[in-house]
Amino acid sequence: MVNRIAAGEVVERPASVVKELVENAIDAGARRIEVATAGGGLSLIRISDDGAGLGRDDLPLAVERHCTSKLDGGLDAIGTLGFRGEALASIGAVARLAITSRRRGADEGWAIAVDGGRVSAVTPAAAAPGTRVEVSDLFFATPARLKFMKSERAETAAITETVRRLAMTHPEIRFSLSGPDRTLSDFPATGEDGFAERLEQILGRDFAENSIEIDASREGVRLTGRAGLPTYNRGNAVQQYLFVNGRAVRDKQLLGALRGAYADFIGRDRHPVAALFVDLPPQSVDVNVHPAKAEVRFRDPGLVRGLVVGAVREAITGVGHRATRTGASAMTEAFARRTAMPMPPRHGVLPREPYGAPLPGPSPATGFGEAAQALLADIAGSADIRAAAPTPSAADLARPLGVARAQIHENYIVAQTADGLIVVDQHAAHERLVYERLKAALAAKAVPSQLLLVPEIVDLPADDVGRLADRAAELAELGLVLEPFGPGAVAIREVPAILDGLDAAGLVRDLADELAELDSATTLRSQLDRVAGTMACHGSVRSGRRLRPEEMDALLRDMERTPHSGQCIHGRPTYIELKLADIERLFGRR
Ligand code: ADP
Ligand code: MG
Repeated sequence: MVNRIAAGEVVERPASVVKELVENAIDAGARRIEVATAGGGLSLIRISDDGAGLGRDDLPLAVERHCTSKLDGGLDAIGTLGFRGEALASIGAVARLAITSRRRGADEGWAIAVDGGRVSAVTPAAAAPGTRVEVSDLFFATPARLKFMKSERAETAAITETVRRLAMTHPEIRFSLSGPDRTLSDFPATGEDGFAERLEQILGRDFAENSIEIDASREGVRLTGRAGLPTYNRGNAVQQYLFVNGRAVRDKQLLGALRGAYADFIGRDRHPVAALFVDLPPQSVDVNVHPAKAEVRFRDPGLVRGLVVGAVREAITGVGHRATRTGASAMTEAFARRTAMPMPPRHGVLPREPYGAPLPGPSPATGFGEAAQALLADIAGSADIRAAAPTPSAADLARPLGVARAQIHENYIVAQTADGLIVVDQHAAHERLVYERLKAALAAKAVPSQLLLVPEIVDLPADDVGRLADRAAELAELGLVLEPFGPGAVAIREVPAILDGLDAAGLVRDLADELAELDSATTLRSQLDRVAGTMACHGSVRSGRRLRPEEMDALLRDMERTPHSGQCIHGRPTYIELKLADIERLFGRR
């Protein structure tokens, strides 16, 4: 009974069994670990390793509660993944457990079985060096727990996630994952220092190309790994992999620190992708907080947080030219830099070398208009300025967003108002407009779709394909028609007509992420805001489209009419305004 109660804490679901058993194999020094599952791990989990193995006398001890071979250093210096001696006993209490093992160097193997808590005698068995642990009919002895299991697919996916996390910390070990309930994954060993390669195996090339290496330390704490560029963000936090001394954790403090590091760079409802390893002396961290060891307690939490926020933020800022810096802060900062240059005498001559090169253009006598144009030309660094109508009327200038005067960098509309200027982020603004329109159409159940002449094929993990297939009917109602295309892809046949220039593949990937978070009882219709947001995000005028003067003005008028148009759907501003008075102050005229 005691074992079954303890099992409730250690063995929450099949993925927790996989985690405990793979950790045991790692602790045993394995170089190759094979994981096979069936029925989402509920019918079968089999883990084979080529580690140290167990001898005849070890086997009965191994399945006994609180029996561990790993506490030589005491609780203050835990260097192995296991130490509680609870896993095998707990698993044996709620399932059928069979262990077959042969010690390295021994010429015979032994087996033991535990069936719902009843331990069998040790018998001789044929075995390769190493250990094979088989868990079948999980929770047969505790039917109440069985009822709480999610779908087979969800359990299969959770197991995959667990193995991916464990594999990230041990590039020197070859991991494979197979079974009738999944597609085969194989992560060949990449060597002791092969962390980057292993991350690429698991997270894909995309991540490798869109992330920055992190390596920083402070007062004995070291942070390594890779942090995704702010622009490479996702719809949920699933792809945040955090490790403390080689142990995968979902620790609130660390997740919070990561969020903090990206706070100024991505919207509140988007999530960065990162794989970060914190290493510190075992005495400085308590991993014995939670039976599943998912949370840790740092002796000096402020130090760790500071290191994560500081190092990641610095890395992101360092590659500013690759990452998209957003929001008004970057803009004001850019202006502020200009004010930091030597101030011209009030009525004197402009400085000759503000950036090392002489500033061409306005003499002190020229008016604001020309000065501003020269400034814009300087920002653009090219003649890429699309000028609009020559002299706007006073009535037009009096509109809240004024009159469009130019488009620069193919994304920013510069508009003149009665008492200042406005810079509109055309992409962000359009995204909000599409979102509001789409939401209205979805609510009215009137989403016309448009047939793609050539269906777009998107490669996706099998779990995602399954989830999208399950929701195909609902998605079709929203104007998105897709179907599975083999085990690892979907074919997109129709898309919502409102979304011109749609990035359909990106949309489908993000939707798959979101479906992973929804439970099967929640309808997509009840999540209209989210779905519309995801769709709008992929179906808006991307920066880079040139607009004609009429189009620019139409966008401004549309913004004036649309609620919430001052913010894009990620919470960033869609436009910023500079009053003439502020501009004059920047030029030292006031
Ligand atoms: P813990 O890992 O916390 O010590 P477990 O119940 O997971 O507790 O395992 C009990 C003991 O069984 C371990 O301390 C270890 O000696 C032994 N053991 C378990 N799995 C393996 C394995 N795959 N290879 C070698 N020894 C193992
Ligand atoms: Mg263990």
